Amino acid sequence: MADDAANRYDLIIVGAGPAGLCAAMYAGRGMLKALTIERGAPGGELLNTDLIEDYIGFESIKGWELAQKMTEHAKKFGAEIVTDTVERVRKAGDGWFAVTTARGKTYRAPAVILTAGGTPVKLGVPGEQEYAGKGVSYCAVCDGAFFKGEVLAVVGGGDAAVEEADYLTRYASKVYIVHRRDQLRASKILQERAFANPKIELVWNKRLVEIKGTDKGADHLVLEDTVTSESSTLAVGGVFIFVGFKPNAELVEGHAKHDAGGYFVTDERMMTSIPGLFAAGDVRSQLTRQITTAVGDATTAAIAVEKYLTTLREREKAGVAS
Ligand SMILES: Cc1cc2nc3c(=O)[nH]c(=O)nc-3n(C[C@H](O)[C@H](O)[C@H](O)COP(=O)(O)OP(=O)(O)OC[C@H]3O[C@@H](n4cnc5c(N)ncnc54)[C@H](O)[C@@H]3O)c2cc1C
Repeated sequence: MADDAANRYDLIIVGAGPAGLCAAMYAGRGMLKALTIERGAPGGELLNTDLIEDYIGFESIKGWELAQKMTEHAKKFGAEIVTDTVERVRKAGDGWFAVTTARGKTYRAPAVILTAGGTPVKLGVPGEQEYAGKGVSYCAVCDGAFFKGEVLAVVGGGDAAVEEADYLTRYASKVYIVHRRDQLRASKILQERAFANPKIELVWNKRLVEIKGTDKGADHLVLEDTVTSESSTLAVGGVFIFVGFKPNAELVEGHAKHDAGGYFVTDERMMTSIPGLFAAGDVRSQLTRQITTAVGDATTAAIAVEKYLTTLREREKAGVAS
């Protein structure tokens, strides 16, 4: 195991999406020896987003461009970013974390900020990947405004699907909720709101089997009746898929408190129930998941780490066991 002084840091940041990059920038400004480990190109979900129109200060910016600006900004303050996949985050007996990677490295630090984000669950149907960003979306708050006056479909029957369908009616002329059963799983209050909304129409017992379109984007859905197996089509300007979101939380060994969806529960410092382990951005249990909330969390987490490390050092000096 490579665990020499060069692999020891004050802080290890897992993931270089908006949250990770912002944490790295603050850690640099705070003069911490910090390492950010990212499995792909820095930027996270920004790299899957065409246009961003709700990041304050940037009326309209391409996702890749914002990713580049955030990366440059973090590096300007000394961010060290390595390309590798974190496989495990484990708190060892000495109170330090051991972060092991796919390339066989072990990095150690007394504090870790997890900013590994999450992934919207895909349906895996033909056309889904082809039209992603061209009529297929997984985020109503992010993309709803691009569909003013259009007919849209939302796929799913849980809280997220019904809440987002309601949200989309502020832009769309009509929103179909396509659900494979004859009743929704969403909470009663959300269901009542959807049923009362004249722009929402429920399409019961239908499974989305294919998304079709032209080079301009998706324009209709192929549906299959889950009772009769009959096939039908639905003309739409876009489809929003809300069949789940999976946080990348499985990296942590041992139990860290999480909510029913698997998102880390933190205190107001962004610290999880494991002392020294912080979580920020999409991986954290919270009301909404946006770039602004990710960088907000990360700011708090990085500053909280500085204070946490100071307290640890004071305790060490005083000879108090951690
Ligand atoms: C299609 C789409 C469009 C969106 N549009 C908008 C928008 O217009 N406006 C807005 O505010 N928000 C938008 N969002 C939401 C926004 O992108 C996220 O809230 C934000 O990116 C969260 O930042 P994050 O750093 O927490 O996570 P992420 O951006 O998901 O970054 C996590 C990073 O961690 C890395 N990682 C994960 N696991 C590992 C591992 N094991 N080892 C190493 N690295 C790892 C990933 O590669 C990734 O780079 C959109 C989301 C999607 C999916």
